[in-house]
Amino acid sequence: MVARTDRVTDPAIIDALLLARRGQAYYSRKLAELGDAEFDEPSLLPGWDRRHVIAHVGLNARAITRLTEWAATGVETPMYESPTQRAEEIDVAATLPPQALRNLSDHAAIHLSVEWRDLPDAAWSNEVRTALGRLVPVSETVWMRTREVWIHAVDLGSGGSFRDFPPGLVDALLDDVARSWDRRRVQEGLPVYAFAPTDRPGREAVPTAPEAIVLTGTAAQLASWATGRNAVGVERAGGGELPEPPRWL
Ligand code: ZN
Repeated sequence: MVARTDRVTDPAIIDALLLARRGQAYYSRKLAELGDAEFDEPSLLPGWDRRHVIAHVGLNARAITRLTEWAATGVETPMYESPTQRAEEIDVAATLPPQALRNLSDHAAIHLSVEWRDLPDAAWSNEVRTALGRLVPVSETVWMRTREVWIHAVDLGSGGSFRDFPPGLVDALLDDVARSWDRRRVQEGLPVYAFAPTDRPGREAVPTAPEAIVLTGTAAQLASWATGRNAVGVERAGGGELPEPPRWL
């Protein structure tokens, strides 16, 4: 029988699913605020018009649905066949009529939500492979999708802002970026950046290494800069030019 509510009982995954679905609702709202003709205009992502963002977010839901089905069935179904196939699929979908793009967005999101809902408890630790080749428990797909929907809602450029994000999401984004830079620090020779959010009293800049470049701003402003978006409000403690953030993903 198909369940009407999530089958998973792990409280952490239940919370994560809630944040992903809130993000989807936020993204869908920002998309609904755009008229059809506005789809042709640039997004806030360099090189992509809104059509590309909308196509990408819809196709991303489908790709994450494939990973969830993989975890459920054990039959390997990758996110994408290759980076080229992924890019071509976005280019093609971006040419769809506006109503078809809206349908792609809605249907793909509902399908993913249903696959997550019906995934039994025991299957949530099954491993799947991300587009970057990392093996992760399928529970990671919830965070992967969460990042996509919240941030691309801002990229649509229809009034969304990191300021709208729940504080827990903003902090999780900062941690995610810091971990990613940390992992690649030695190999890519990345500088040490430390975030000192002005609206998180008591939270010290981490890491506290003497060579760390400390960045200040609200947590939401820092998360926006660190994920390669708008840098408004972010400053380098002690003055000096604000650096370009290293890539995140
Ligand atoms: Zn994306």
